[in-house]
Amino acid sequence: MSPLDPATVVARGGAIDADPYGATSPPLYQTATFGQRTATGFDEFDYTRTDNPTRRAVEDLLAELEGARTALTFSSGMAAIAAVLRIARPGERVLCGRDLYGGTQRFLHEHLSGVVADHVDLTIGEDGRPRALERALATRGARILFVETPSNPRLEVVDLRSVARAAHAVGTLVVVDGTAMTPWLQRPLELGADVVVHSATKGLAGHGDVTAGVVATRDEALARELAARRNAEGTALAPFESWLLRRGVETLGVRLERAQSTALRLAKWLSERPEVERVSYPGLASHPGALVHAAQTVRDDAGGVLVTVECSNDDTARRLVESTELFSTSVSFGGVASSISLPHYMSHASTPEGAAPRPSPRLVRISVGLEAFDDLTRDLDSAFAAAPKPRREPSPILS
Ligand SMILES: *Cc1c(COP(=O)(O)O)cnc(C)c1O
Repeated sequence: MSPLDPATVVARGGAIDADPYGATSPPLYQTATFGQRTATGFDEFDYTRTDNPTRRAVEDLLAELEGARTALTFSSGMAAIAAVLRIARPGERVLCGRDLYGGTQRFLHEHLSGVVADHVDLTIGEDGRPRALERALATRGARILFVETPSNPRLEVVDLRSVARAAHAVGTLVVVDGTAMTPWLQRPLELGADVVVHSATKGLAGHGDVTAGVVATRDEALARELAARRNAEGTALAPFESWLLRRGVETLGVRLERAQSTALRLAKWLSERPEVERVSYPGLASHPGALVHAAQTVRDDAGGVLVTVECSNDDTARRLVESTELFSTSVSFGGVASSISLPHYMSHASTPEGAAPRPSPRLVRISVGLEAFDDLTRDLDSAFAAAPKPRREPSPILS
């Protein structure tokens, strides 16, 4: 059969064809062990740390969506990212962009012992080549190039085809964190990435009720290595979480389509506000990376659900985040409910030594959910007009 359209893939939701009772909704195999027919040979499943039918169902579904051979799920996005970054051995180097999820920076700079992590400018010059990256690769090489596009939280766009070409020319493995877009909107493996990682906690699961991570690749040897390590360390996604993730992915398409059409309208609305100095949304023609983004997403109008705004001053930004009622002030994004955050104090609060510069306290990141556009703008309208709240000492969380 020819490959199915992603809309059909998600609607089928990873059905388990071999279910003995013909269950139409994939069952939850909430079991740690599977009985063996003999003592001397293993059957298809033996122990959930290694493999479980519910987990395998969601992994097959994610691999199909991503255009990968193999998808492996992990207990969180960070567990997935850590597993991949630990491919770099002591003495080797990881190169990454200048805007990156805070937790990834913490792992790179504080927990990957012996490995050097350097942030480089990944922009493309007039000649269409990532000159700064090429120079960095030429001087010391790198085991891994780790990229987010659009990046978190500034939503800067990286030209994946160009950076992948430069990295592959010197044998560097290209890893893309695809969390912001999900495979519904962008499939980095088709653009030259060797590995895609996701925090499935965000848009993929989509309901804010599970933490999960994904690694997807076409490289079978690498997949085997990662699966062996995941089994050895016990970092795979649990059956119930796998079931929740699969359930979330069933509605991935309708959720993202609806939320991103509201996000585009909201980005335009915010651009008109006097309290806002700059709006960053990859689906707006004014975004410097708009053309590159459109060329590497599944369609021209795949701007995603995140909008980042730079307010005219710190107090306005804080007031906006703290005074909205429909947007929860929370670090996560990509859920059915809208949320808003101040990355400087929240997701990027603690910046490890050597890390990229912390986002400005004027930067507000908005994740658009499924609420009605008019309700959201009314809420933002009154938040902009609200009286300042007394300042509370921010607690430095990094999640
Ligand atoms: C949230 C996030 C992560 C980490 O994922 P967890 O599921 O929270 O461990 C990694 N990368 C990006 C871009 C994220 O937004």
